[in-house]
Amino acid sequence: MFDNLSDRLEGAFKSLTGDNKITEINVATSLKEIRRALVAADVNYKIAKEFTDKVKEKALGTENVLKAVKPGQLMVKIVQDELTDLMGGQSVGINVKGEPGVVLIAGLQGSGKTTFSGKLAKYLKEKRKMKVLLTACDVYRPAAIDQLTVLAGQVGAEIYKEPENKNPVEIALKAIDFARQNKFDVVIVDTAGRLSVDEKMMQEISDVREAISPNETLFVVDSMTGQDAVNTAKAFNERINYDGVVLTKLDGDTRGGAALSVKYTVGKPIKFVSTGEKMDAIDVFYPDRMAQRILGMGDIISFVERAQDQFDEEEAKRLEKKIKKNKFDFNDFLSQLAQLKKMGDMKSLLNMIPGMSKAMKNIDIDDSAFGRVEAIIYSMTPQERADPALLNMSRKKRIALGCGQSMEDVNRFIKQFDGMRKMMHKMSNNPMMAQMAGNFKG
Ligand code: GDP
Repeated sequence: MFDNLSDRLEGAFKSLTGDNKITEINVATSLKEIRRALVAADVNYKIAKEFTDKVKEKALGTENVLKAVKPGQLMVKIVQDELTDLMGGQSVGINVKGEPGVVLIAGLQGSGKTTFSGKLAKYLKEKRKMKVLLTACDVYRPAAIDQLTVLAGQVGAEIYKEPENKNPVEIALKAIDFARQNKFDVVIVDTAGRLSVDEKMMQEISDVREAISPNETLFVVDSMTGQDAVNTAKAFNERINYDGVVLTKLDGDTRGGAALSVKYTVGKPIKFVSTGEKMDAIDVFYPDRMAQRILGMGDIISFVERAQDQFDEEEAKRLEKKIKKNKFDFNDFLSQLAQLKKMGDMKSLLNMIPGMSKAMKNIDIDDSAFGRVEAIIYSMTPQERADPALLNMSRKKRIALGCGQSMEDVNRFIKQFDGMRKMMHKMSNNPMMAQMAGNFKG
């Protein structure tokens, strides 16, 4: 995410190293670089210029105050604060209060509305313990109704649909009625989009909005479209005065312009970001955490939060005991893998770890590697899974045949597993390490 911007900003800070204090002269190169970096990330020039003016003012204002801090570090801090500010400062939550609460989802076709509707349903169900009704109001594409039906099934939410009805206002109103009668807490209304802003679509979405008076209207936009995203956001806001923005496809090769300029340009906060096609790939938007990510500092808080969601205390205690006795086996490994996979795809997880994003930039993380490892384990007998020591040459040969992988692959995995097991055992019996692990769990 935003790799190029991160790199360029880092370069901009470098021009300050060595200097022992910030002056108008040495800061000028750095500021110019920052401005260029922002423009290259598809931030409009006016915003970039205003941004660097503010940074300059702050940098020179604190010139001699912080003697212990190097100019480069001071600049990073100032830029971090300004980026946070630019993206809205505080995180703004979604409003779903009501009987039922109603959330209207709007945006262009292909922006990720339907996918996001499913994710939001899952989020509200799991995080807020709400009973969620999804509503399919895209009356033009039958496939859109099917897609939402599949997603509803995946996330365990109910769906309201009327495939024969071509009137979205009517469907939405009936869905809300249905939700009221059946004690749903919240209704999410997925609407139709067009490939570009057009009058008919705008009229339709504003009719729906007027008819159902949602508690929350969210505008979904594909972050890969850069300045276009910002222009579309503006056009929709003028018509439907939405409450918040959802930025999708941040897992792609997006430059960052939309994330950085939408709040400034439209005046509406980004409320959620979407980082993949899986139903878990949704994050509440926190401007400060995003600023940290942009500056290559990772987002360890979101990482830990996702981990906590999947954390099962009983299971952890059980594993701890097994590891201590050096009894961690392939079944335990499989269950750990399953937990990890629930957190999202590997690349987006690793990107949250400080420094990792840069280190992994050119490495293609292949989630199917998990599949290969699982196939090896599934080719083992239950006895072998529970007792890795059983794996002699002839058993390994059988496993390799069973999973259709080479003997070399099987050997490599078993060796890695063995090494990991030894390492975990060693750590679990080291009091300092055990203490640290305990702290993490708390
Ligand atoms: P809609 O037309 O606005 O309802 O868009 P969809 O929800 O059908 O999404 C369009 C395409 O984008 C689908 O192939 C989705 O799987 C994909 N998509 C949606 N959100 C994301 C995301 O955050 N990351 C990625 N990589 N793909 C996404």
